[in-house]
Amino acid sequence: MSLPFPFCYLTLIGFSRLVEIFIDWIYTQKIPTASLNWVEAENDTDSTIYTDDLGAQVLSAKALNFAKRFLAKEYQQIVRNSHVNFNIDAAPGYELVIYAFANFPSTDSFLTFLVDTHCKNWAEALDFNEDGEEGTETKLRSQLPNDFLIRVMTRYNKLRGDPSLEVLNRCSYHEHATKKEKKECEKESRVEDSSTDESDDE
Ligand SMILES: [Zn+2]
Repeated sequence: MSLPFPFCYLTLIGFSRLVEIFIDWIYTQKIPTASLNWVEAENDTDSTIYTDDLGAQVLSAKALNFAKRFLAKEYQQIVRNSHVNFNIDAAPGYELVIYAFANFPSTDSFLTFLVDTHCKNWAEALDFNEDGEEGTETKLRSQLPNDFLIRVMTRYNKLRGDPSLEVLNRCSYHEHATKKEKKECEKESRVEDSSTDESDDE
């Protein structure tokens, strides 16, 4: 599928950053943990369209797609799990939604993650600039994929019937190499989530 401007431009400038991140991972086994470090190279260009957080969301989804295409299984797992952990309390930006629904299989639970986190974390004010003016997100509304919107409608309907679904389990969206790894990860996630809840209460 060919992408309209500015996505084609961003795809090109994003690609060199993806390669840099991948090569860094080969040498260090680490990927960026802060939004700014994902988009650093982007900031060297004239592009001022995206905030660091939205830019990092898109780049990490592109890194995930890159890993799938190059069959880099271990890298795919670390990028995906890190994306999930980092964004579970954030609404996905629309460029991320548009990119993911155009590039990931419809059965991929990464798409489910975007729908579920949208329904949990999105608020209308997020689409507007700080001064309440229309911004990048409001302009992208008309390009949101139909499949995403239908899934959001369905999800809201399910949430109305069972509000307990609002609590998201990050392990449902992770990739685990083995059942044992999944069990250990679930245990760790529960500890981390409960310590986050406690610090939220303070
Ligand atoms: Zn997990």
